[in-house]
Amino acid sequence: MTAVPLPYRVTANRPESTGARTLELRPAGEALPPFAPGQFAMLYAFGAGEIPVSVAGLDDGALTHTVRGVGAASRALCAVRPGTHVGVRGPFGTGWDLPAAAGHDLLVVAGGIGLAPLRPLVRAALAAPGGHGRLNVLIGARTPEDLLYQEELPGWGRPYCGVTVDRAGPGWSGDVGVVTMLLDRAVFTPPATTAFVCGPEVMIRATARELLHRGVPAHRIRVSLERNMHCATGHCGHCQLGPLLLCRDGPVVGYDRAEPLLAVREL
Ligand SMILES: Cc1cc2nc3c(=O)[nH]c(=O)nc-3n(C[C@H](O)[C@H](O)[C@H](O)COP(=O)(O)OP(=O)(O)OC[C@H]3O[C@@H](n4cnc5c(N)ncnc54)[C@H](O)[C@@H]3O)c2cc1C
Repeated sequence: MTAVPLPYRVTANRPESTGARTLELRPAGEALPPFAPGQFAMLYAFGAGEIPVSVAGLDDGALTHTVRGVGAASRALCAVRPGTHVGVRGPFGTGWDLPAAAGHDLLVVAGGIGLAPLRPLVRAALAAPGGHGRLNVLIGARTPEDLLYQEELPGWGRPYCGVTVDRAGPGWSGDVGVVTMLLDRAVFTPPATTAFVCGPEVMIRATARELLHRGVPAHRIRVSLERNMHCATGHCGHCQLGPLLLCRDGPVVGYDRAEPLLAVREL
């Protein structure tokens, strides 16, 4: 982890879904230490600003990030051209910690851009099938155009339990509705399951409630939380959620810790 951004060269920038782009970055000189799935980087678009973005891929020495343009810095990152440079700090935060789920059934539940931080976890699980029980991947998006990694998903094979959208368009023949309805299709033994959940907070709460109801222990429901972040090193306090500084103690936390905090509206 470095205090100052290191220059990384943009080696690819491709459209991913409506408003989101996937960037591939390679060190221009010194490389950052390795990232783990679930951790994030601070990406600095020169002249525009620095924002937290999860790592969405870790192949072949490159850092992959999927960014949705919502404001000045994220739009500037979406617009970077191959051959130019961005600043990168990291790795920051807690990861999904796949090794702690060894032997368990895995339940990956993603909403919208939340699939980005879950992608390296799924790829790691697919690469080591003997390390865990059954792998289930459940994906929700607002519309078919908002779905990430559409070309890659079929290659995930059997664990890919399904995709549902809130609003279908012409040509969509898949499921319509909230992602929790796909849980009936997932194959898992609740007391021996670890769940990994990322998406809008309302989706995280609904998914966790349903999993608790089915008997998955709260501490084995790992959720990734977002708050505004600035320093990413646990000093500035921008990302405080109750007793947690999410850049340091998160973004991935067990639902046993997250539930009471998410229940307080002002936090
Ligand atoms: C740990 C972590 C990982 C993240 N990973 C990703 C990722 O992989 N891909 C991605 O596209 N985005 C990710 N984000 C969100 C991203 O950091 C924000 O979209 C970005 O900070 C917005 O900055 P901006 O300057 O572009 O827009 P701003 O002008 O700061 O904000 C534009 C709008 O977005 C809202 N906003 C700002 N920050 C957030 C946030 N953290 N969550 C929800 N709404 C926000 C603001 O309220 C405002 O309405 C992550 C955030 C965190 C904390």
